[in-house]
Parts: sequence; structure tokens; C-alpha cells
Amino acid sequence: MLDPPPFLTYSPTMSFVVEFDSLPVGLLLNRSRTAGVAAVRECLGKARIGLSDFAVLISPAAREVLEPICRRSQALTQQRFGKVMRLFAPLYLSNECVNNCRYCGFSRDNAILRVTLSVEEVLAEARALLAQGFRSILLVAGEHPKFVSHAYVVECVRRLHEEVPSISLEIGPLGTDAYRPIVLAGADGLVVYQETYDREVYAAMHNSGPKRDFLWRLETPERAYAAGFRRIGIAPLYGLADWRRDAICAAAHAACLLRTCWKAQLTISLPRLRPCAGEFQPRVQMSDRDLVQLVCAFRLMFPDVGLVLSTRESPRLRDGLIPLGITLMSAGSHTEPGGYTGAGREKLHRTERGRIVELAPGTSEWAPGNPRGATATGQFAIADERPAQEVADLIRRLGYEPVWKDWDTALSA
Ligand code: SF4
Repeated sequence: MLDPPPFLTYSPTMSFVVEFDSLPVGLLLNRSRTAGVAAVRECLGKARIGLSDFAVLISPAAREVLEPICRRSQALTQQRFGKVMRLFAPLYLSNECVNNCRYCGFSRDNAILRVTLSVEEVLAEARALLAQGFRSILLVAGEHPKFVSHAYVVECVRRLHEEVPSISLEIGPLGTDAYRPIVLAGADGLVVYQETYDREVYAAMHNSGPKRDFLWRLETPERAYAAGFRRIGIAPLYGLADWRRDAICAAAHAACLLRTCWKAQLTISLPRLRPCAGEFQPRVQMSDRDLVQLVCAFRLMFPDVGLVLSTRESPRLRDGLIPLGITLMSAGSHTEPGGYTGAGREKLHRTERGRIVELAPGTSEWAPGNPRGATATGQFAIADERPAQEVADLIRRLGYEPVWKDWDTALSA
């Protein structure tokens, strides 16, 4: 195979927001769709995989040579990371949200049970996770300036950091100046899913609220890095748009961040849509086999980047992916605030189209002796419901070491 023409040799040198519009997505997608098995084999022979090679590795043709792709991905992962799997858990602070993302259970217009945990309740949830062994926690919240205020987030991080060594955040995007106090309070990681890199689909999925601003979201990892976050996580949400298109853009985004935010550890997540309130159906199917192929393609292009798999995936698929390229996993997850301890149940309320509706006696949410007997609504249904220790045991049985904490803050004079 000849070298790709220069316009396919993507070489980012500045913010991805600037680079994004000149990214030859259509050409790369066409390359992916039309590549043959010979082109895939040629990519496998290369020492370094570029963006055009990545497009070939996720091609329909590459499905026919998935086994050697998996073998190379497995060898590369073991060489760079050893036989370890880092574990983390999400901790939901709030399911209030002003946005109306069509695919999300927390969307403003969904009539769901909502709550925002107090800082003390967040601490109780964190302690339950610490008791399970977790030392790395991802704080997740909907975007709602009133309930999830900046001061509240800073205080949550500050209090948790006294007991939790590694805190990451997945919250509504902020500016660099707003991120700094969160970093100073002790957070080290920020995760932001672009959801989709297809601007038309993005606009259709986000028809109200601040999340409509595609470019503000796209620039978030760079603002977070400038504020001092040292772990940055990105991802599309697979199921909204052509998965190959989104994967190519995510790979380009990662390549750019590795160059511009080089002091940070970068992770790429591979979330697929799951059932949730609102009953949004995936617009695009991505099979298990497609996901395996994508994990390996990311590994081949980015040997040192962490690849993250959540409990959105089934136990069987997660177990199968452990040796192939994944390096971080959530386990035992709950996607509702208070999910680990029941904290906040007495404060539950229902919202409809953003307006609070009191729970009424006699409804299914009202239980004698525990009037707020129901739990808050989760963001989505998880597929792997095994407790964290069971997942850790399985990791050990596969010959890998589960890692709950992989770093210590250095003491400085
Ligand atoms: S995806 Fe995030 S911003 Fe959108 S509705 Fe859900 S919680 Fe809110």
C-alpha cells in the first residue's frame, strides 16, 4: 500500500478546536469503508500507527483479521502496562440537570426522581466505596448551577480529598479559572465526553441548555489541563452517530491532546448507549465485535494511553476485554446519587419539564414507614452488576493484578 496522501497525514500543532474543522473526516471515513484486508495487514506490520492507519484498523475489512489485531493489542498492552487493571468507581453527587440531552436519563424534561447529596452524604458514599477497597473515585453530576454550584463541587472535593487519594470529576464544563480551585482542593482528573463529534447530530441531541455549545465542550480538556488537571479523559458516546466517524475524531482529538497537554495522563473511554429514562433508542448500532476491534485499534495507535471500560458492558464482554487492551475499569457501580448507602432518599423529589412536583402518598414512590422508599433515578442501566470484589477476584483469576491505587502524591519542600 502506498503512503497516504499528505492531506491524510494529520499533524496537530494547536488547539483541537482550531484543528477540528480541517480534519479530513470524510476522506478518513471513506478510507475506512473501502480498505481491504491487504491494507489492514500492512498496517499491522507498521511500527507506528497514524490516523489513516487507525481508520483502516476499524474498517469492515479488519473484522476478517481481528485475531492478529487482538494479539498485537494484547502484547502491546502487557509491554506498556504489565498485567494490571486499575479499578475506580463513579460517585453521583446529583441527578439534577438543566440540559436536555435526548439520550440521558437525567435530561431536564424527564419526569424522574432527583436529589443532590449534601457534602456529608457524599462523604458517606465515598466511605462505603473506600470500605470496598476503592481509592480512585470519579465524581459525577448533572449540570445545574443552582444545585451543583461551583462552591459545592469545591467543598465536595476538599472534604473527600482528606480520605480519598485520587479524585476525578465528570461535571458540566467550566472555564480554566473555575477549574483551578477544584484542582487546588485536590482533584487530579477530569473526564468529558464529547458525546459525538458529528456537529449535526450533536445539535439534534442537545436542543436546549448550555450543552448546546459544541466548541466550548470540545475545548474543555485543554482548559482543564491549563488549570492543572493531570488526568484527562475523553470519549464519544457510541450509538449517537456513525461510530467509525466518532472513533476517528476521538483518535484525532487524543493525538492532539498528547501533543498539546503532554504532561497529563490521557485516557479514552469506550461507552456505548444503555437503556435509560426517556427510552431513547441508539441511532446507530455498534456490535460487541466492533467494540473489541475499536479497543485494539486505539491500543495500536496509542500504546501508552489508558483505555477505560465501564459497567455499561456485560460481564462476559468485560472479562474478554481485560487482556486485550483495557487498563481501567469501573466496578460495582451505581449511577444514581445515594446508590451505595441510600443517602439522600428523604430528600427525593420528582421533576417534570424542570419543575418540581411533590411526591404524593399513595403513589408507587411512597412507601409506609419510609415515605421516600424509592431511590433516585439512575443515569442509565448498568449491565455488569457484580460487586467490586467479585470483579477483582475475576481479574486475579485471569492472571492480572487489580490495582485500587496506583500513585502517591510526592512530598515537596
Ligand atoms: S448527559 Fe449530562 S448534561 Fe446531558 S442531561 Fe445527562 S447529566 Fe445532563
